[in-house]
Amino acid sequence: MRVLVTGGTGLVGSALKEIRPDWTYVSSKTYGTLTSLENVKRMFEDIRPDIVIHLAANVGGLFKNMNKRLEMFEDNVRINTNVLSEAANRGVGRVVNMLSTCIFPDGLAEPLTPEALHMGPPHPSNEGYAYAKRISEVHSRIIRETTQTWVTCLVPTNIYGPKDNFSLEDGHVVPSLVHRAALAKRTGARLQVKGTGVALRQFIFSKDLAKIIVWAAELPESPPPMVVCTSDSEYTIREVAHNIAKINGIELEFIGGHDGQMRKRAIPGPGDFPKPSVSLEEGLRKTIEWFNKEFIC
Ligand code: NAP
Repeated sequence: MRVLVTGGTGLVGSALKEIRPDWTYVSSKTYGTLTSLENVKRMFEDIRPDIVIHLAANVGGLFKNMNKRLEMFEDNVRINTNVLSEAANRGVGRVVNMLSTCIFPDGLAEPLTPEALHMGPPHPSNEGYAYAKRISEVHSRIIRETTQTWVTCLVPTNIYGPKDNFSLEDGHVVPSLVHRAALAKRTGARLQVKGTGVALRQFIFSKDLAKIIVWAAELPESPPPMVVCTSDSEYTIREVAHNIAKINGIELEFIGGHDGQMRKRAIPGPGDFPKPSVSLEEGLRKTIEWFNKEFIC
């Protein structure tokens, strides 16, 4: 079985490579940008995959999503459409496509399940990225219904781990707190966190998600069309920040301001996928260890 992993050098791709080093991992340095159909065709022609794990995406935090709306929409529509179309045209047996809980309707009263994806517009701050991902979900369904290619869409909650984007301006909540804690430790300061810390979120360690990807790729029968990948556990931002401060041996301080959406609860499943097993504290410890060793801030 030849397995092609796009976006193979990122947060998720590098965790996957630790479990399945025998698969073929490409980044934008291997065949150039996958926004180009020519590059995508060259990649498929060279690798001739039986299975495609499609991780490549133009990903960013709040700042990038708000300031580069057009780029986030166009790049991701092009990357996803090129990869999914080429996989279907070539009769690839199975594709695993990545969505995200952040593309779901904003302020949805009910918990997030696959059925809720198109029930309302996404949060305006990430509409470019969100609609591009939603289009890929529709594309995946039509491919499933009209070709021999089976596309499963995985929907992870917040992913964190080694090799994340630790940018202070543009990282997601965990990596940016990890970076800020390292800076605070160096100057003997407290870790200052915006808001009050009461908002609830769900997290998945990159290696736990990688195990679910392997499950979706190798399950003998077709996996469900869409699977929400998370554990049942929810954490307040305060618990996350407290763990990061404690591991660094520094004090924590909440400085007030907006908390964002109070609660966004996703229901894991459907499907008997390997349940996330890395605790938040263990995952944060591994992430902080990697950051302190590899990242020069
Ligand atoms: P990441 O760390 O930002 O890595 C992105 C990967 O995609 C890199 O290998 C990058 O290669 C490649 N890539 C980006 N633009 C490309 C382009 N134009 N052409 C070819 N390759 C390109 O992403 P990640 O966090 O691992 O995310 C993996 C998937 O999970 C994505 O689909 C993302 O939307 C989804 N997801 C992420 C999160 C999260 O919290 N991070 C949450 C839910 C879902 P280069 O470095 O060479 O550009």
